[in-house]
Amino acid sequence: MQEPIHSKTMITDPAAAWRERDLSVLWHPCTQMREHGLSGDRALPLVPIERGDGAWLIGRDGRRYLDAVSSWWTNLFGHAEPRIAAAIAAQAGQLEQVILAGFSHAPAVELAERLLAIAPREQRVDGSWRAPLAKVFYADNGSAGVEVALKMAFHWFHNRGEHERRKFVALENGYHGETLGALAVGDVPLYRRVYAPLLLECLFTPSPDAYLAAPGESPAQCAERAADALRDLLEAHAGEICALILEPRVQCAGGMRMHDPLYLRRARELCDAHGVFLIADEIAVGFGRTGTLFACEQAPAAADGTCAGIQPDLMCLSKGLTGGFLPLAAVLATQAIYDGFLDDSRERAFLHSHSYTGNPLACAAGLASLDILQGDDAIARNRDTAACMAALAAPLAGHRHVADLRQAGMIVAFELTRGGDKRTPFEPGRRVGLRAYRAALERGVVLRPLGDIVYWMPPYCIDEAQLALLAEATRAAIDEATA
Ligand SMILES: *Cc1c(COP(=O)(O)O)cnc(C)c1O
Repeated sequence: MQEPIHSKTMITDPAAAWRERDLSVLWHPCTQMREHGLSGDRALPLVPIERGDGAWLIGRDGRRYLDAVSSWWTNLFGHAEPRIAAAIAAQAGQLEQVILAGFSHAPAVELAERLLAIAPREQRVDGSWRAPLAKVFYADNGSAGVEVALKMAFHWFHNRGEHERRKFVALENGYHGETLGALAVGDVPLYRRVYAPLLLECLFTPSPDAYLAAPGESPAQCAERAADALRDLLEAHAGEICALILEPRVQCAGGMRMHDPLYLRRARELCDAHGVFLIADEIAVGFGRTGTLFACEQAPAAADGTCAGIQPDLMCLSKGLTGGFLPLAAVLATQAIYDGFLDDSRERAFLHSHSYTGNPLACAAGLASLDILQGDDAIARNRDTAACMAALAAPLAGHRHVADLRQAGMIVAFELTRGGDKRTPFEPGRRVGLRAYRAALERGVVLRPLGDIVYWMPPYCIDEAQLALLAEATRAAIDEATA
């Protein structure tokens, strides 16, 4: 017996009704909205979510989805983490927001103190330390944090009368956000190309991406080759460059492309040799994603005996900064950079601001998140989780459509290709990544491939059973998408 389908039953499907309501008013980020209206192969489903619980997202229809992408790489310890939620609620009852120009509040100061205390340090061969990151400037999202770092670098040289230093160097295939300044130093064509006429000039240098290694070349040799190209670029433009910006260890939006951390050591040395600031964009990789608290720590020791780990002159943090609860960014700067703005003239000051700079609720979330990161020894626990991810991902490497399986701590990624090697990509028109996305979603797992690159970047609370489910759904999704 089949029930007659009349419009009433359609409208009472809560998820369908919600989709209609959403699409009548919302314009979603990073989305070709037309795809939500399509049916069949090219359709992009819209999933209404009601609540979160650990690594799970729970839909309005009660369906559960394992969040394998940490909700755009923001979430560290699971959704609706009660300790962070409680810290925000307590702060909201005390002070929700105050202008940070001329005023101060405890969450902003305490968070700055704690960030500076854990920031990367660099010890030289003679036992001395590089002058540490010493000041925190807040912004309210990652792109805005990048804008702050770029403007600070430029303005610092300007204040010194070095007006020719106004160019930035960035890595090919890097990503630093969507606002015009951040977009200008990014090199992901899909996001950049159409706006190129609006963007400030940027010099791009080859990425150390191990994926680009020539046949027979090791990741370290590939990094050396990219560093030599950086050296040549810095020499060719001596005196014109104010800063190099890079994503240490993993170029995330560029396809979770990973490089040998040797490149970070070389980049640090080259920036020092040329008097250029090094801006580390740790917005995605910070707070333990790649196995260490900050990715900069993974740079190897130098030939001259300098200890492992490099320290940038400016470091941008966001995404996981609040555990994934609220938008906030922090730019950490050295004392020397800060001092370059001290003057009787206001124009020599850094007059940048955002209305919500250093919002107390976001800072309180940041403090609670640091408590968990440090109190629960999350970095050490992540090592076990990362080993489990490696074991579960390993069998996928043998799949005939999987190429270049790679991992950095809590990030695992691979390419879907026709022949299972780098040189045989699927035709873009097949949209294999989108198919994999839909197939995984049907199995209750949120994968969100970058083109045809599938990755796992789960919240740190994910357990073994959930990881097994993730691996199982990933294999099934690949099979379905490549069939
Ligand atoms: C996400 C991201 C940004 C931009 O942060 P938003 O908060 O999305 O503006 C900048 N840099 C990197 C490396 C990122 O991954």
